[in-house]
Amino acid sequence: MPKLKKKLAKKVIAKKRRPVAAKRPPAKRTRENATARTARAVRILAELRELYPQATTALQHNSALELLVATILSAQCTDERVNMVTPNLFRRYPTAAAFADAEPAELEAMIRSTGFFRNKTKSLIGTGRVLRDEFGGCMPDTMDDLLKLPGVARKTANCVLGTWFGKNEGIVVDTHVGRLAVRLGLLTTARDDKDALKIENDLMTLFPQESWTYLAHALIQHGRRVCSARKPDCATCGLANDCPSAGKLN
Ligand code: SF4
Repeated sequence: MPKLKKKLAKKVIAKKRRPVAAKRPPAKRTRENATARTARAVRILAELRELYPQATTALQHNSALELLVATILSAQCTDERVNMVTPNLFRRYPTAAAFADAEPAELEAMIRSTGFFRNKTKSLIGTGRVLRDEFGGCMPDTMDDLLKLPGVARKTANCVLGTWFGKNEGIVVDTHVGRLAVRLGLLTTARDDKDALKIENDLMTLFPQESWTYLAHALIQHGRRVCSARKPDCATCGLANDCPSAGKLN
């Protein structure tokens, strides 16, 4: 056999003999089952009750109407800012009828600093009119009726029903609740923190109904104090033992 051919033949044999690396089994993905997730939710709720026993809304109010108005104003605005605006606002417009008859330019000027003031003005005047004309000036206490008010969606309705009327009809899902639900791995159908309806449903499935109003207030407090959007403080977080995101976000 010529030299070159011999060399090639040797190479082929060597290649054939090279031990084949053992195929690694695919990494096991440990998916939490429903029982484990429910158990974790129970522990998270217990820890929240320890951390924030008095959790409730930071929006100052003395009536269902005031809470509704403050909640409408709180969209895309801090509670602190809303609380700066509402004392004068409630003095100027003490009833639903007063909001119904408000002069738009004057109302706009009073709530301007809360942002989106033109839309909010429309919602407040529209809500005042529906309350005055359809509900005798009183605040309804059912989800269906509250959703008839202009500018009122489930988040605002849940807030009024739970916080003022003590009815756990649903769970307030704001930016904090959405973010924490994702980070805490509490979602089963919602894909991200934007789908408020699915997030609400997932949380309602996971947590006992009597806790719904409290849960939202507590998650909001935790989101503000510890698990902020930009800088979650996992090192001091009381939920870290039950949070799949602990230490992975910074
Ligand atoms: S451990 Fe970190 S990510 Fe999880 S809830 Fe606490 S602060 Fe947020």
